[in-house]
Amino acid sequence: MTKLDSLEFLGFDLKVKRDDLYPLSGGGNKARKLDFIIKDALSKGHNAVVTTGSAQSNHVRATALRAAQLGWKSIMVIHDTEPTAYQGNLLLTSLVSDELRFVSRNDVAQEMDRAMDVLRQQGYNPLYIWGGGHCVQGALAYFEAARELSQQLEGGSLDYIVVASGTGATQAGLEVGVREFLPGCTVLGVSVAREREKAIREIRHSAEELQSYLGLTHSLDGIFLDDTKMGKGYGDIFPELLETIREMARKGVILDPTYTGKAFHAMREYLRDGTIPRVSDVLFWHTGGLLNLMASEHFT
Ligand SMILES: *Cc1c(COP(=O)(O)O)cnc(C)c1O
Repeated sequence: MTKLDSLEFLGFDLKVKRDDLYPLSGGGNKARKLDFIIKDALSKGHNAVVTTGSAQSNHVRATALRAAQLGWKSIMVIHDTEPTAYQGNLLLTSLVSDELRFVSRNDVAQEMDRAMDVLRQQGYNPLYIWGGGHCVQGALAYFEAARELSQQLEGGSLDYIVVASGTGATQAGLEVGVREFLPGCTVLGVSVAREREKAIREIRHSAEELQSYLGLTHSLDGIFLDDTKMGKGYGDIFPELLETIREMARKGVILDPTYTGKAFHAMREYLRDGTIPRVSDVLFWHTGGLLNLMASEHFT
């Protein structure tokens, strides 16, 4: 359970769902997803894990921390060149993971298979997790998060949820979750990487997979995904984004340049241009990213 905060912004009384404070060092949506993935894996007798991500992957950091807490062995396949000094997520990961393997993107699958073999030969029962924690359990975590939110609202209404969308598993879970627990609420997904058509296809696919897992049959039409607010692509920054991050930090909302900063920046535009009408009840789903901010080189 994470806190639900209020924030006065542009004349709106916004709500902020504080998954940035999800109880794991560094917090965030990857920690929430991972708890569901791990719970499922424990029931299947796993005791080690292999996963992958970039050097500043929140997913890899969350996986490494939870694995260490459980006493699991972990091998992390990092698709980046090894930096001379570790910082942010990579620093935390390196403190607790048994092994980091830095490889080129093309070699990820092969290296993960190799790591799985090594662990099996050592007598472990390793769990294989796709990058970003992209799987039905990850989406399920956000279906349950929507239930959690609906209980926290205590019958209060909500028209829009704004959330950063990467692999789309978080948004997929929320799409099914609002249809089940918060009917009438629209999820506004802000893409941080993918172009619209591909992203919507992936979100729909994850949501369908989740619905068949849960035995639900809601219509999944009308998924909103904006691919015009990410600058030139994943990890790109622009002056207005940095300005939004500075401005919101002074109000006590710490955003990051890769995910939450872009989603919040998009929301500000929606509030201004009427995409979100004046009399709406709006929630910003804060998905974390503090360690991405701490590793950013764009601030002086
Ligand atoms: C991964 C991530 C997202 C996007 O989540 P997806 O489920 O991959 O769409 C958003 N915010 C932060 C901070 C993340 O690390």
